[in-house]
Amino acid sequence: MELIGVFGGTFDPIHHGHLRMAQEVLDATPMAELRLIPCHVPAHREIPGATAEDRVKLLEIALAGGDPRLRIDRRELYRPGPSYMVDTLNSLRDSLGESVSLALILGADALQGLTGWSRWTQLIELAHLIILERPGYLPDWPIPLEEHLKDRWRNDPLCLIEAPQGFAIHVKVTQLDISASKIRSLIQNGQSADYLCPAPVLAEIKRRGLYLLD
Ligand code: ATP
Repeated sequence: MELIGVFGGTFDPIHHGHLRMAQEVLDATPMAELRLIPCHVPAHREIPGATAEDRVKLLEIALAGGDPRLRIDRRELYRPGPSYMVDTLNSLRDSLGESVSLALILGADALQGLTGWSRWTQLIELAHLIILERPGYLPDWPIPLEEHLKDRWRNDPLCLIEAPQGFAIHVKVTQLDISASKIRSLIQNGQSADYLCPAPVLAEIKRRGLYLLD
């Protein structure tokens, strides 16, 4: 069964924390493709500092010449209203069918707020969950989530190609304490964000004058 990874985010901007984590998930699992899915209107946070168009352009620059299994999926950009992950997974299921396996990648920060996501219990009915640690976030679980995942945990990443959805696994990734908000704040303060994002991404941010204003 073909496994497709689903990595949603604001990517405002894309940085080495996202990219390294995506690469390590690809390498730790039998994943054929990992889709970075930039949100249009984030459901759970403030309006992004850059337009969806600019964020996608930065994603394209970041992925150019990298692992060809890393792809951009633009489906949230064409959907009006807040970008709910459950709608995105339903849309992926509609276009890819039931014979493909989907795995939703969630960092510790996303996990802590997961029970506030629209129709969150449906997520694991539509995809597997790949859970990652992230620096600065305790592996803290909302109790309803712990309950919900109780019988779903597996150790072997091969489980992800044995069923189209429904399992949860942990993947260990290199802990890089990089965030898009830190990068935006450095740029606003006229400080260097070098080495936190790929150099061509920073060059485009500079060229377009992105993130200069709060
Ligand atoms: P911001 O600082 O603006 O909140 P961010 O750096 O968290 O942004 P997002 O686009 O919101 O970036 O990231 C999408 C998801 O990617 C996050 O919810 C998180 O799970 C994961 N992620 C982001 N940065 C890292 C990192 N450095 N290490 C591991 N996971 C990360």
